[in-house]
This record gives sequence, structure tokens and C-alpha cells, in this order.
Amino acid sequence: MSQEKLAFLREEYMNLEAAGLNWKLRTLQGNSAPHCVVDGKRVIMLCSNNYLNLTNHPKLKEAAKRAIDTHGVGSGSVRPIAGNMDLHLELEKKLAEFKHAEAALVYSTGFAANAGLIPQLAGEGDFILSDELNHGSIIDGVRLSRAEKGIYKHCDVRDLERVLSEIRGKYRRILVISDGVFSMDGDIAPFDEIAKVASEHGAITYVDDAHGDGVLGENGRGIASHFRIEGKIDVEMGTFSKAFGVVGGYVSGSEDLRRFAFNKSRTWLLSASHPPPVAAACIAALDVVENEPTHLENLWKNTRYFKKELKRMGFDVGNSGTPITPVIVGESVIAQQMSAMLYDEGVFALPIVFPMVARDRARIRTIMNAGHTSADLDTALAAFEKIGCKLNVL
Ligand SMILES: *Cc1c(COP(=O)(O)O)cnc(C)c1O
Repeated sequence: MSQEKLAFLREEYMNLEAAGLNWKLRTLQGNSAPHCVVDGKRVIMLCSNNYLNLTNHPKLKEAAKRAIDTHGVGSGSVRPIAGNMDLHLELEKKLAEFKHAEAALVYSTGFAANAGLIPQLAGEGDFILSDELNHGSIIDGVRLSRAEKGIYKHCDVRDLERVLSEIRGKYRRILVISDGVFSMDGDIAPFDEIAKVASEHGAITYVDDAHGDGVLGENGRGIASHFRIEGKIDVEMGTFSKAFGVVGGYVSGSEDLRRFAFNKSRTWLLSASHPPPVAAACIAALDVVENEPTHLENLWKNTRYFKKELKRMGFDVGNSGTPITPVIVGESVIAQQMSAMLYDEGVFALPIVFPMVARDRARIRTIMNAGHTSADLDTALAAFEKIGCKLNVL
């Protein structure tokens, strides 16, 4: 009988498959690198978040190995009980320095930071106002809150202002949350204006800088540095899983924020701390980002070249201000075909289709890596041009 109880598992999967919305997992054989092996084929990687190619940096690998020798492979506990290691504190101290903040707190993932902290910052009698295209981990964090919820139009500061005026005086606290960089389009939220408008209305600001860390601003310090508004965003959240090449979420801001966050976030209190090699690799990532500017320079050099060439060929590359470049092709089937043909040519880039983006805005999403050579980019660009012509996108 248990089979009948679980029949929905198969039925729901079949529905996804019929709609073409099921995930088909690709397998990396070996490391995540600018060149790698995916499902048995050597490809140029154009869809990882490994912006600075730190996943393979010798200093990070060495730090992780050393930490295994000195601290073992696991932390043994959650941090409030017996899993708070010197390495975790060292990482938070370095991170706060990097972000030019008073303090920082590390979570197991960025998802855990959003899901654990947002519902504590706003509760009953409060209001959370989100950009309509915010990341799923923000959406889940907001759903876990008892606060009232609203959205403003994507990156539209006038609309944000309109909603803030409407709700003025009606709530105890107002929290304005936005991605810093939106991962589907690569566009940057206008946080200089968002912070200003929010502050005029007494609202708290919260940025999810997952795609800005290591990429935007001086030395990759993130979106606040990019807009020269350091200290003006109340809560900065980010991740070590993208440009920093490891894994782990964080928040940075005041010492009050840090203490509040770790006393209140259940995802922090009730989930084990980072294994020593992870914490050590994150520390090394911050060192590398501070001391080896060539990675960031290469990332932006590659980004400028790749975007310029795609535009010259006539592709619609949207409104990105970052190393994420969408190649917008129209219908979902075209994007799916294009991705398959690119793979045949040795270029790995995945389609993003409805319902992740509008039906007629399906795209191949590309992400640059500091480790791509100009020969890699030329190979990838030639494949895009050839396939774009074949599919009548160009
Ligand atoms: C990737 C991502 C996260 C999740 O970060 P993890 O550390 O991988 O859990 C959160 N927010 C945004 C905007 C992201 O792109």
C-alpha cells in the first residue's frame, strides 16, 4: 500500500517531464574549471559561478589540506555548543575587514543566512518590501516571517518610493530587501538610490550580494563599494560559494547585527558549523582576493570582450552590468536547441527558460571566468555565431 501513498511522486514528476520542466543533471568529471569534463566531453565552462577561478587556486587547496591536519575534517557540533572553532572566528574577523564592516557572521550557506535571518528581522506588526525578482532564498526567508509582505517593480525606485509612502506610519518596522545583482539578467540593483529612499522613510535595508561579492567594487568588496555607499546598507548578506570558490553564507554590518543574528537565526543555532577545511579555504579566498588583483582584472577584461563581440554579432545581450551575460534568443525550444548545439561544439552553457524568465525571453546564460583565455573566448564566440545563424537568431 505504501506504493499508492507515494504515487504522487511519480505523477508529479511525469507532469514536470511532460512540460519539459524537469532537471536533467549533468556530471562534472573532475574539478570545476574554465575547461572541464562534463558527461565525458571536454568543454569550455560558461555557466559556473566560479568567477575568479578560486575553486582551483593552490593557496585555497593548501589551506584546506593544512586545516585537515591541524583541525580534522568536521567541527563536531553546532557553534553555540561545541563547534565554535578559532578558524570560524578568524574567518569572520577577516570578512568584516574585507567588507569594511564592524562585524560579520558566517552561516553554512547563503540560503541558510536568508532563511534564518530575514524572518527574525521582521515579524508581526512589521512590513517586508521585496524586489519582484528576488532570489528564491529571500522569498523563502520572507515566507517564514509573520510580517506583512509586498513587492515593488524590478529595480524601480519610484515604485519602491510609492509603496513606502503608502505604508508610512502603519508598521513598527519596514525592511527593504533586494538582490544586489540579479542572476538571470546580470543587472545591478540601484542601491545608491534604494538606500537613500529607504532611509528617508526610516526603512531598514538588506542586500543579498551573492553575485556582487568578489566581482563588484574595489577589490571585489561588493555592491556597497561599487556605489561608494559603504556603511549605508544596514544588512549585507553574501556567499562564499560563488566568486570565492568555496561554500558558506554570511552577513556583515554592526556588532549588534552579528550578536542578534547568531542568537536568533535557527539555521545558525541548529545546524553544524563549517568543517575546518572549508573555513580555512574561505580565509585563504579572502587573502587571495585582497592580494592578487589580477583575477578580478582578468574577469572584467574577459567580460568586456565577450559582451562586445556578442553585441557586434547582433545578439540581444540584455541589460547586464556584470560578468553574467544573457544571450536572449526568444522561445524556450530555441534556447534548448542552442544549448545542445553549443555542447556539441564543446561549449557548456545552459538555457534559462519559462517560468524562470518570460516566455519570449528564453536565453542562454553565460558567466565569465577569470581563467578563460582569449582563445577560449574566441572558440566560444565562434560557436555562438555559427549556431545563432543556423537557428535564425542572428
Ligand atoms: C546563489 C545565491 C544564494 C545562495 O547562496 P548559497 O551560498 O549557494 O546557498 C542566495 N542568493 C542569491 C542571490 C544567490 O544567487
